[in-house]
Amino acid sequence: MRPDANSYRDAWCGEVLPGRVGETVRLAGWVHRRRDHGGLVFTDLRDRTGIVQVVFNPEVAPQAHAQSHDLRSEWVISVRGEVVPRSEETVNPDMPTGEIEVRATELDVLAPAATPPFPLDEETVVDEALRLRHRYLDLRREPMQVALALRHRVTQAIRDHLHEAGFLEIETPILTRSTPEGARDFVVPARMQRGAFYALPQSPQLFKQLLMIAGFERYYQIARCFRDEALRADRQLEFTQLDMELAFVDEEDVMAATEGVLGAAFAAGGVELTVPFPRLHYDDVIARFGTDRPDTRFGMEIRDLGDALKETEFKVFRGALESGGVVRGINAGRHELSRAELDRLIEFAQGQGAGGLVWAYVEEGGGWRSPVAKFLSEGELRAIATALEAAPGDLLLLVADDAGVAAQSLGALRLELGERFGLIGAGHWHALWVTDFPLVEWNDDEGRWDALHHPFTSPSEQSLGLLPENPAAARARAYDVVLNGVELGGGSIRINRAEVQYRVLETLGIDHAAADQKFGFLIEALKHGAPPHGGIAFGLDRMAALLAGRDSIRDVIAFPKTATGQDPLTGAPAPIDETQLRELGVRVDAPAPQP
Ligand code: ASP
Repeated sequence: MRPDANSYRDAWCGEVLPGRVGETVRLAGWVHRRRDHGGLVFTDLRDRTGIVQVVFNPEVAPQAHAQSHDLRSEWVISVRGEVVPRSEETVNPDMPTGEIEVRATELDVLAPAATPPFPLDEETVVDEALRLRHRYLDLRREPMQVALALRHRVTQAIRDHLHEAGFLEIETPILTRSTPEGARDFVVPARMQRGAFYALPQSPQLFKQLLMIAGFERYYQIARCFRDEALRADRQLEFTQLDMELAFVDEEDVMAATEGVLGAAFAAGGVELTVPFPRLHYDDVIARFGTDRPDTRFGMEIRDLGDALKETEFKVFRGALESGGVVRGINAGRHELSRAELDRLIEFAQGQGAGGLVWAYVEEGGGWRSPVAKFLSEGELRAIATALEAAPGDLLLLVADDAGVAAQSLGALRLELGERFGLIGAGHWHALWVTDFPLVEWNDDEGRWDALHHPFTSPSEQSLGLLPENPAAARARAYDVVLNGVELGGGSIRINRAEVQYRVLETLGIDHAAADQKFGFLIEALKHGAPPHGGIAFGLDRMAALLAGRDSIRDVIAFPKTATGQDPLTGAPAPIDETQLRELGVRVDAPAPQP
């Protein structure tokens, strides 16, 4: 970065490199550290680009040196001085600017600073609540500077790529009507229509479809989305999506466009993704990995043992198979675990809903060391070993249960063991598509079918005839991108005919009248010539966190909220005045929260 010379600076701290020895530079920034060595005062001066050492020497510049005694951490200063080589003993090979220092001739104190409530060096681990309370200080720390700069590069690469590919970036409203992505809406009381409320968008879904109907054909937006949901598992109430929509496309077109933009985004973060991503059928990933977010960086795939156990006399297995369930297992490899560790694995599987977990060690000669060995025939042991490609010494783990429970528990166990046995190599990036999702899933609490993706997702052509009577068998033209076991994004080909939209909504328990009332504007638009269209959306926060190697998306968001949805910096959410409430026609029942 080259600054235009101004009265504060004509060079950046991080760029005062040995090639500039002999030059006079003017720098500005924050005092990172200060050491008073009797005669000489050393400061590390920090700006956005890095740190450089500035020396105040009473013999060179008596006035600046006298002023420098007052400097403290985080004071804002501007200095002029000469770039000189450091003496050999004081060279710091860990710093890009470690071979030189700036011998100050002038010092301007631009602003003093209170003592920071925590050190701003990288090493100190600071409580997150404190970091968020003083986020502007936390953001001065190098890891945060690096993370947000990375996020910017990723976003910029997305914009450049999509611009080149003919996409238009179009903003959609924040004050709008409910968009059903399955979460609770945030609502805003409308002062000018008392008693009515705007909803904040859970995604720009309906607007991007309207933009396709409006003829824009290729749209994208770095869109802020709002979902009022419990913040388990590293979510935020407001988050950012890369949102895209294309007209006159099928699944393959959207996938190809997506691979292009993701390739560019990840390249900007220094990661090369191999394209095209493999396409895996939903049924296949559930069977093999027990989840629709498979981590394919390691094997240990789930195998069905129904065939091997067709004739089994063993009560537990037989019972499961006869009642329509399954027996499935994984080969955890050659890992000798203690009895206590095996017990913990059983508890783990039970915690995932499984009735139990059978463990077995394969012995030389094909026998098993296992609590259930005596209940299984030699042929069954062999058939199971073959299905699981087991060799002597391997640990086999089996679940006999309903198919969903077996998938869930073995899938979780597989991840747990993959982690524990160190099978997930760092630096591996496995992206894939999951396709052919079911159209709907049963919502037990509400006693109705819910869209698995959202209600505007097109059923496959073959599935159309199944609606509304037999929705369970229907498939959606939906697809998800999964990276290293994390769902990065998902989308679908949409319904572009009003009568199909009515049929899908009816399947979801929304009759004609209710459909008109809730989504009348979309259905009306569909009647005015909607092209076939489809799109996708990605969590940009998650993408940036993965690339930055951070566990939490909070580390790639400048001003995130806590798990309870609060912002310790501004104190949001906060009560509002009586007058404001009256204007809005809103009465609050709850007692005001304690600040
Ligand atoms: N609107 C969807 C979501 O936010 C994505 C899509 O279907 O494009 O998850």
